[in-house]
Amino acid sequence: MSSEANTKAQSEEAVAPFEKSARGRLIVVSSPSGGGKGTLIRRVLQEMPNLGYSVSYTTRRERLGEVDGRDYFFVSPETFKAMERRGEFLEWANVHGKLYGTARAQVEQELAGGRDILIEVDVQGARSVRRLILDAVSIFILPPSFDVLCARLTARGSEHPDDLTLRLSNARSEVEHYREFDYVVINDDLERAAGQLAAIIHAERARRERQEYLASRVLATFQPTEPST
Ligand code: 5GP
Repeated sequence: MSSEANTKAQSEEAVAPFEKSARGRLIVVSSPSGGGKGTLIRRVLQEMPNLGYSVSYTTRRERLGEVDGRDYFFVSPETFKAMERRGEFLEWANVHGKLYGTARAQVEQELAGGRDILIEVDVQGARSVRRLILDAVSIFILPPSFDVLCARLTARGSEHPDDLTLRLSNARSEVEHYREFDYVVINDDLERAAGQLAAIIHAERARRERQEYLASRVLATFQPTEPST
């Protein structure tokens, strides 16, 4: 390759749009049921490059409109427990009486490949993951008020009345945990909240320790070249 072509290749790599780093970062998102994080997360995933999403496993029943393998992997309690025994979950928890878990393999594969990966877990899951992955970034999505949360959950119409009551009562204690998270996003307006969530991920990517890979490549271009003989 000519030195000009070499320089071009280097500079293209140096401004690689994917903000490549050696290892991806785990983005942990939690909110009470009905906090609107599903829509918010879908919006951010559509807009951000190099951001994966880990589809969780659950033993709860599929809601109308949900797709197996896209929203969740819907499995029986037996399958879930067998996976748990084989150590296939990074974390798992009993939430509102059902089991939910994050598959270890997908998360590890994405992180090792330098891709950031977003997981959506309850507050127990977030706590377990923070213990395991110290540089995980955690974000809590708060609905603007309890009334809005009630209205969203009721309008969704997907829950059995008993389950709705359980979810609303659990939400009162779940929101107390926002203090354990690095960031809080109030989901009052989808556009604004999605913008803020994306801004957090962008800012985390710009951290100096995350830029070592690119910075070293840029700095290499500052090295004096050997005089040709
Ligand atoms: P839903 O049934 O409304 O989809 O989710 C109920 C709760 O389970 C939400 O708080 C959601 O964040 C949480 N959840 C979803 N997937 C996981 C997971 O893989 N692990 C844990 N710990 N919680 C999860």
